[in-house]
Amino acid sequence: MPNVPDEPAPQPAPLLVYGPRSTTYDFGPSHPLTPRRFGTGISLLEALGAVPGLSPEPATDEELGWIHDDAYIEHVKRASRDADTPPRAGVGPGDTPRFDGMHEASAAVAGGSLRGMEAILRGDVEHAFHPGGGLHHAMPGRASGFCVYDDPALAIARARRDDLRVMYIDLDVHHGDGVQAIHWSDPGVLTVSIHETGLALFPGTGFPEELGGGAAVGTKVNLPLDPGTGERGWLPALELALPTLAERFRPEVIVSQHGADAHAFDPLAHLNVTTTAMGAAARLVDSLAHRWAGGRWLATGGGGYDVYRVVPRAWAHVWLAASHRDVPPSTPPGWRAQWAADAELYGQAPMPETFDDLPNAGLPYRAPDEAADARAIRIAEEVVGEILKVLPAPA
Ligand SMILES: [Zn+2]
Ligand SMILES: [Zn+2]
Repeated sequence: MPNVPDEPAPQPAPLLVYGPRSTTYDFGPSHPLTPRRFGTGISLLEALGAVPGLSPEPATDEELGWIHDDAYIEHVKRASRDADTPPRAGVGPGDTPRFDGMHEASAAVAGGSLRGMEAILRGDVEHAFHPGGGLHHAMPGRASGFCVYDDPALAIARARRDDLRVMYIDLDVHHGDGVQAIHWSDPGVLTVSIHETGLALFPGTGFPEELGGGAAVGTKVNLPLDPGTGERGWLPALELALPTLAERFRPEVIVSQHGADAHAFDPLAHLNVTTTAMGAAARLVDSLAHRWAGGRWLATGGGGYDVYRVVPRAWAHVWLAASHRDVPPSTPPGWRAQWAADAELYGQAPMPETFDDLPNAGLPYRAPDEAADARAIRIAEEVVGEILKVLPAPA
């Protein structure tokens, strides 16, 4: 048993990973994954007292090569400097278009999560939070779904080089397919992804039958939810699954992805989760890190396309959870005033007055929503039951 108290002790503030390179990961003004989220998001974290402590710089080619094919890295580099590079390997027109400096910007996202993990492994901090990270769709040889290099998978790979068992918790509304694929055959990496079902949403994967390869069977866990699932299904499913899986797997490090696109207001998906539930999920992850992993916890951002009402509050909840601080009763008036005009301009007004949402995000709660929530809990029960049959406890 690790000699760690259940109740987290006060600690220095978590390491906030953010810097000038963060906003260079930019597919252009009409792309949904906009660096505008750093304006609203980082200013809210700073209003809460957070100070960026680690500026992302590019991971080296050798480090990227732990999880990506060399030919793919070379292709991204070429596309990065040459606008006439033919579309290939997911880089091109569509979700993940090339842009000038794409390699450096993408390698810096990867480097931010990697150095955050290294700070944790050295014991400099217990928790680190990299809001610009969480690019979980990138594959070994292919860009996908706004993701070029897979920073969560790289941070996990770094912890694995120290032989630590890693639990990866993916809360983004989309399946964490890249992280699952990259660590598919590693029994030392437990991935747990809760997401809108691939029957209704990109990337079309993430079903309970995807269990991992070879000796890793049972270490890849998927909780696909029906459209319309809200906080009353999403959060209980996590509360049911995560502690049980952590107890069986006994992680030594936790990496989590806090995509905010499961929110009811998100324009790209169809779940009805609230910031309240996202905050509770972050606190659950924090408690698991202390219970099992000596406090070692790297949190990343992820998707999230309502960058005024949702993303900043979702990040603030992660930050407050990692700081072991209560949620303030209201958002800072100065912060609301700073972004009110932009929020109006982009159709995401008004700026929210509280960190938490009204129940069900203030939306009517109808019979189909209730059925989706009940089904989420049932899916979690079934999936965890099946996983416990095949996932061995560590030797
Ligand atoms: Zn903690
Ligand atoms: Zn997403």
